[in-house]
Amino acid sequence: IKNDYHLSLDEQQSLLDIQQVILEMVAGTFSEADILNKLCHMAEQLLPNAIASIMMKQSEGHMDVLYAPSVSPEGQQQLNGLVPSEHAGSCGNAVYRNEQVFVSDAFNDPRCKDTFDVFKTYGLFACWSTPIRNTEGEAIGSFALSSFEIRSPENFHKSLLSIGAHIIGIVLQKSSQQIELQRMAYHDPLTGLANRNYLFNRLTKQIAKAKQNNTRFSVIFVDLDRFKNLNDTWGHSAGDYVLRTVSARLLDAIPAETFLSRFGGDEFVAIIDNENMTDIVAIANNINRVIAAPIDVCNRRFNLGSSIGMTQYPIHGETSEALIKNADLAMYRAKNLGGNNAYVYRDELSKKALRSFLIEEQLHHAIENEELQLYFQLQVDCTTHQPVGMEALLRWKNKELGAVSPDEFIPIAEKTGLIIPIGEWVVDQALKAFRKIPGAAEKGLVLSINLSTVQLVDSHIDSITQKISDSPVPNHLVELEVTESCLLEGEASINNIKKLKSNHIRVAVDDFGIGYSSLSYLKKLNFTTMKIDRSLITDLSDSSDEYEIVKAIISMAHSLGLNVIAEGIEDIEHAALLNKLGCDQLQGFYFSVPAPLNDFLQQL
Ligand code: C2E
Ligand code: CA
Ligand code: CA
Repeated sequence: IKNDYHLSLDEQQSLLDIQQVILEMVAGTFSEADILNKLCHMAEQLLPNAIASIMMKQSEGHMDVLYAPSVSPEGQQQLNGLVPSEHAGSCGNAVYRNEQVFVSDAFNDPRCKDTFDVFKTYGLFACWSTPIRNTEGEAIGSFALSSFEIRSPENFHKSLLSIGAHIIGIVLQKSSQQIELQRMAYHDPLTGLANRNYLFNRLTKQIAKAKQNNTRFSVIFVDLDRFKNLNDTWGHSAGDYVLRTVSARLLDAIPAETFLSRFGGDEFVAIIDNENMTDIVAIANNINRVIAAPIDVCNRRFNLGSSIGMTQYPIHGETSEALIKNADLAMYRAKNLGGNNAYVYRDELSKKALRSFLIEEQLHHAIENEELQLYFQLQVDCTTHQPVGMEALLRWKNKELGAVSPDEFIPIAEKTGLIIPIGEWVVDQALKAFRKIPGAAEKGLVLSINLSTVQLVDSHIDSITQKISDSPVPNHLVELEVTESCLLEGEASINNIKKLKSNHIRVAVDDFGIGYSSLSYLKKLNFTTMKIDRSLITDLSDSSDEYEIVKAIISMAHSLGLNVIAEGIEDIEHAALLNKLGCDQLQGFYFSVPAPLNDFLQQL
């Protein structure tokens, strides 16, 4: 302490005590309110028959009480709104003049003209005030001791006020920094919304409150439809713009004061303090509606959608995690219904959807976690049973889900777009494997790779064509298997199939005989190979209905110049029958069970 006022040792010690106590609190985990109320109480102890108050200048120019623990709420209310001026009492003057102001008898002091009423109501006479300053030295508030008696300050009191005001300045500055830090830790910088941390924090509190009051509340989980697509195609700044637009629309669509957070990428979560599910569904529908409105960005007009899942505490989950996870599941269900939909969580949802949900979640990391593997199955000549090629078949083994069949995960990979990176991985690995098969190219063995219809998009086909052309495996020994459904996808996929053919890559129509089997398209597309679906082979015999169908398919395929493979050959009778029907090649467990490359090499 600067001892400008020539204080006694006792007096100095009292001031040091205050400083020590308060600064220790500042260094600890006490709140601003704890610290500054304590300071007021300590000051009051050093001046009997007086009350301490801290008033702050507001951005609008007037002053409000920040802390005055010994003043009643009504008294504080009456003090609020004080406009600093030369008549605004000692506090208003201290801020107005930016200097200490000591009023000994308010009723005989023109400086207190504006504050007579308050003084009168509470029986106050003296008021001594010191400006609280910011780091630039400007007066931002006042620290005051008001007495229920006429009195003038001693040097000790003047010091007490100065030191108090100084400490208050430090505390306020620290808490504004903490507020900024807190804001950064709990908000998403892009949208300014609360972030995931803040959401969980808030949920914990909300759950505690609901438990105590025996009430319910609701959670709304919003995920944008087709956002990833937009972001990948039009870049991140377009994506950012869309996310900001969407968050503004969300704020409009939900009741005022609702807690809204950005949960991640294109996911938003709102906590709604309302237990009426009809209201919640109405809010969700409203969200669907506002998000569906077009968004203009990059001189284009985008139509996004949103899928929404809803849960309610406690029936759909008693923890934050359960409420979010189940809302996410319900959202997933809404997405599966075609998007732009809202769905309330139901228990039975979990059995079916949970599995797809987990598959999707885990599939995202399948490549990087090296969980994928290619198996190979031999294809043989129908008459000689000698190898003519092999089909690459994808396998996935996940630590949580175990081995998942491609029939189960491929449709999910297709729906989520994950089939694109996975498809590229398959092509890379298959080409690599082919080169490890001794004499494969010399013997003219054909490498068959499955392609989903969703993979028949320009960019992906170009990248696959590139990979095949760049690889030492000759293009004409690679066959891509697509299903008939691609024929229904329109010009783009048809052109992409033509593009493959013009690069001398073979194209097979897979699973033939179960779909639409449009002859005119088959003719137009000029496939290399036709694969007859296993379902037609399983019940095949001399006398079955399938006999005539398979016979017709083979002769039709041959008339179009196609090579015919029959799939699912499990016994010698089927192999013989198909040979009789003029089939060219065979594939099935009878000749080869799909196996990893090393085991497959033994089959050759
Ligand atoms: P698919 O293209 O029709 O593949 C043939 C399926 O029949 C394989 O099942 C194979 O293991 C099975 N199979 C082969 N011979 C026999 C037999 O004699 N009897 C029986 N009962 N089954 C036989 P898998 O490996 O489970 O593959 C299922 C489907 O998953 C494939 O059907 C294909 O549509 C898809 N798939 C597999 N790998 C890939 C891939 O890398 N990319 C894409 N897009 N789809 C793939
Ligand atoms: Ca296939
Ligand atoms: Ca097939």
